[in-house]
Amino acid sequence: MKVWKVTHPGFITLEDLGPSEVRKDCVKVKMLAATVSTTEKLVFKGTLKGCTFPRVPGRQGVGMVSEVDESVHKFRRGDRCYVSSQVACNECYFCRIGRKSECSHLQTYGKDIDGVLSDFAIISTDNLYLLPDRITDNQAVFIETIALAINAINTLNIGKGDHLVILGASVFGLIMAQVAMAHQAVPVLVDKRPDRLLLAEELGVYYCVNGAKEDLAKKVFSITGGKMAGRVVCSMDCADFDYGTCADIVSNYGKIGFVGTDSEISEINVDLMQIISKSVTTYSINHANDNISAAINMLARGDVNVDKLITPIKFSEIGAYLERYAGGEDFIQIVATADK
Ligand SMILES: [Zn+2]
Repeated sequence: MKVWKVTHPGFITLEDLGPSEVRKDCVKVKMLAATVSTTEKLVFKGTLKGCTFPRVPGRQGVGMVSEVDESVHKFRRGDRCYVSSQVACNECYFCRIGRKSECSHLQTYGKDIDGVLSDFAIISTDNLYLLPDRITDNQAVFIETIALAINAINTLNIGKGDHLVILGASVFGLIMAQVAMAHQAVPVLVDKRPDRLLLAEELGVYYCVNGAKEDLAKKVFSITGGKMAGRVVCSMDCADFDYGTCADIVSNYGKIGFVGTDSEISEINVDLMQIISKSVTTYSINHANDNISAAINMLARGDVNVDKLITPIKFSEIGAYLERYAGGEDFIQIVATADK
């Protein structure tokens, strides 16, 4: 089994661990595609809270089942599956009442335990979701992000005709806007990078605002007919974004969701008096697991276009790209596929 391993912050190497064996309730998966995203960047830099070294990064991906333990009956050799990122303990109170995404001892691949930037991986069947043929390997790696966006839709109760301002055209922001449109909401996407805003327009987002050039509060006022934003989502993976503006643009009795904890942001300065005087409710949105099947369905239906977000690389290039990414180069979503 070949793995990319961060031996200590700033150093990544390809290691051959020799043969690996399946365990009870697990299968061996040949990895076909995996993302190199903010989580992997932070692991590499050594700035991800709670991550120890050495560590194999890679929180989620797509694989083909190559070997099945005799205890497993749900999956067969040759099944193409999505590998989800969070591993529940199956023992705590929440796991026992079926709310595994709220597990008290939740572990994440590539962060708390070794991840999937490897040629093969041993995965619990709890983390595998069978993929329909119409979803490609590269598209399937976005399932967790889509599931997180669906969680935001549900948590913030976003419905038909609602204005949703999304701060940050990160991969999450670009997907959030599309998921909102599929729910007949009206997304307003804000970023400072003209290329990201152009891409959002190509993806069908009608209201794209350059926060560096335009007065955001005035713009939101005019788009919403003076009502301001009933819903705001802060896509927390844009390092130099002023998320504090959420308090200026949210409406009275509005809702703000802060999405994603694996972030390079160390603090956000929000005017709490505005939040209080407007009776705004804030939410932290970090779980995706309960929405994985819904996300697979959205992707299969073509509700979300992810093809334009991808920088495709080979498995053997992961180390080099992680160094470039950590060095400040801007990628929307690096997707590594198995070497042929
Ligand atoms: Zn648990």
